[in-house]
Amino acid sequence: MNRNPNSKAELLAAVDKRLHFEERNGVRIVVSDLLMKEAGISHGFSTRIGGVSRPPFDTLNLGTTRDEPMENILANYRRLAEAFGLDYGKLALVRHEHGDRILRLDGSHAGRGLTRELLDFSDGLVTDDPEVTLMTCHADCSAFFIYDKRRNCIGLAHAGWKGMFKRVGQRLLEKMESEFGSDPKEVLCAIGPCICENCFEVEKELAVSFAAEFNCPDIYTLRDEKPDKGYVSLRAAAMIQLLDGGVPLENISVMDLCTFEEKELFFSYRRDGKGTGSMAAFLTLK
Ligand SMILES: [Zn+2]
Repeated sequence: MNRNPNSKAELLAAVDKRLHFEERNGVRIVVSDLLMKEAGISHGFSTRIGGVSRPPFDTLNLGTTRDEPMENILANYRRLAEAFGLDYGKLALVRHEHGDRILRLDGSHAGRGLTRELLDFSDGLVTDDPEVTLMTCHADCSAFFIYDKRRNCIGLAHAGWKGMFKRVGQRLLEKMESEFGSDPKEVLCAIGPCICENCFEVEKELAVSFAAEFNCPDIYTLRDEKPDKGYVSLRAAAMIQLLDGGVPLENISVMDLCTFEEKELFFSYRRDGKGTGSMAAFLTLK
C-alpha cells in the first residue's frame, strides 16, 4: 500500500468494516465485529432506539448537557446498562472539551459524570480496572475504542473535528503505552460512526490543513458549486493517526455509518442543531 503520502481511497478500501447491530430489551447498539470476538471486553455505540425521551430527544438521548430532564437521561443510561449487562453504578462519563487530554480512571471513579460529580475535563479515558465502565458522548463526533489484550487495558475517546485534528486517538494510544506499557502493534482499535465526508462541510482552509496534518492529499474533496468549502474524511484522519501511532492496519476496524444521513438511527448536531440528543459509546473490561 502507498503510505507516503497516505491515500484515503486506499486506506478506506482496505480497512475492516465489519459491524452489526445488537438489540436487547428494545435498546439497539452498533458493535464492531473485530472487537466483538474478544471475550475480555464489552463495547458498543448506542443508536437513538430504545429510550424514554420525547421529541426532539427521542428516544435514547444519552447527552447530559441537553435541555432535557436528567431523570430521563439517567433512565436511558439505566436501560442501556441493563440491556447490555453493564453495572449502572460503574459507568463513568467523560466531560469533553474538544481537546486531546486523556484521563486514567479506576474503580474509584465509578459513577462520575452521572450519579456522582463530574470528571475533570478530558476527551479520552483509559483504565485497567474492570470496576469502571468508560463512556463518551457523541453527536456526529467519532469514537476511538482501543483494547490491549496482553496488558488487559482499554481506552475510549471522543473526537469531533478538533480532537481529530489534535490526534486524540494517537494521544489515547500514548497514554496506554505510558500508563500500562501497551505496545501499539498489539492493540485492537475500532472507530465509531461519525458524519461522513459527503456530509461534513468545512471551510476550504481547514480541509487543506487536514490534508497537511495527515499527509493525505485526498483526505478532502471539493465541489464546483461551493469553491470556498471542503469535505473532509474524519474516518481517514482517524485511521491515519492510529497507523502513525504504530497500529497495524489489520488491527483497525471502522464503523462505516454516517450519523448525519441515518436519521432513524442517530442524533446529528449538524443536521438538527442543539435540539437533538447524543449517542454514547461504552467500553469495559470483563
Ligand atoms: Zn453522510
